[in-house]
Amino acid sequence: MADHAADADAPARRAVVGRLTRAALILSGVGLACAPPVHSGQPLESGQLPTTWYAGGASCASTLPLRVHAYNADLFIMRQAACTSYEKPFLYLFFGRDRALLLDTGAGAIDVVTVVDTLTRAWLARNRRASLDLVVAHSHAHSDHVAGDSQFVGRARTSVVGRDTASVRAFFGVRQWPTDLGAIDLGARVVDVIPIPGHQAASIAFYDRRTGILLTGDTFYPGRLYVRDTTAFAESIDRLAAFVRSHPVTHMLGAHIENSRTPYKDYVVGTVDQPDEHPLDLGRAQLFELDSVVRTMRGRMTRTVLRDLTVWPLER
Ligand SMILES: [Zn+2]
Ligand SMILES: [Zn+2]
Repeated sequence: MADHAADADAPARRAVVGRLTRAALILSGVGLACAPPVHSGQPLESGQLPTTWYAGGASCASTLPLRVHAYNADLFIMRQAACTSYEKPFLYLFFGRDRALLLDTGAGAIDVVTVVDTLTRAWLARNRRASLDLVVAHSHAHSDHVAGDSQFVGRARTSVVGRDTASVRAFFGVRQWPTDLGAIDLGARVVDVIPIPGHQAASIAFYDRRTGILLTGDTFYPGRLYVRDTTAFAESIDRLAAFVRSHPVTHMLGAHIENSRTPYKDYVVGTVDQPDEHPLDLGRAQLFELDSVVRTMRGRMTRTVLRDLTVWPLER
């Protein structure tokens, strides 16, 4: 009888516990959202983003193959021209006191190494230095971000980080993948590494402590967020959102732009000329909205169009 009564009450009790657990989760989320970000006390270095990243059309006549924008004297953002690849990926070059860090090498068909060498020579001259080591790493292993690697392999004072998860984990010192952080110190410039598998197994985000810029690769950008592993992706977005809540983040910059400035509208796959692109940087609101959406969809992710991006699960 007692067992009977217990059985009869169990669904109601489970429902109450479920509601309490959800309430606790929501409260803890609210608590995190309100907590002030941890700040080292060092002022963040400022910089400028351009008003447009227009990458040109089908003709290469009037567009450099790799556009270079100086965010400030020690951080350069590059974008591959549309005429060389409709993917038009972004590349990033950071300078620290002891090393430079190149993130991604483009989609191929362009000379990246000459541009990097030119920027490095100018940096060395400005800083009265003779030489500098270079680390080449990747937001993830897809071909539109690693195709220029061969231009750097075997060069003096240059390390090219392997593309597989084990190599990334070892190089950046991530103890427990994907829940722990890694880091690289470029010399008075620490860049944190946040494992964010889901789009691709070896996807990582980079957080530059000097500028507060967070680089999110193909995992979070104004475009189609292709999701290969839905569970890993949902957990990665959750960790990324927690990181953003607790750190002073100035800009979140991804590796592509596929959306238009018109809300809920993207350029169709393969579009070369994108004259009315969405800005590159996304804000906290978009990340927290994405986190909320993928949390809700966990385990049964469907294509979902948001104002500035689309969640796009892929067949396995
Ligand atoms: Zn990708
Ligand atoms: Zn990509």
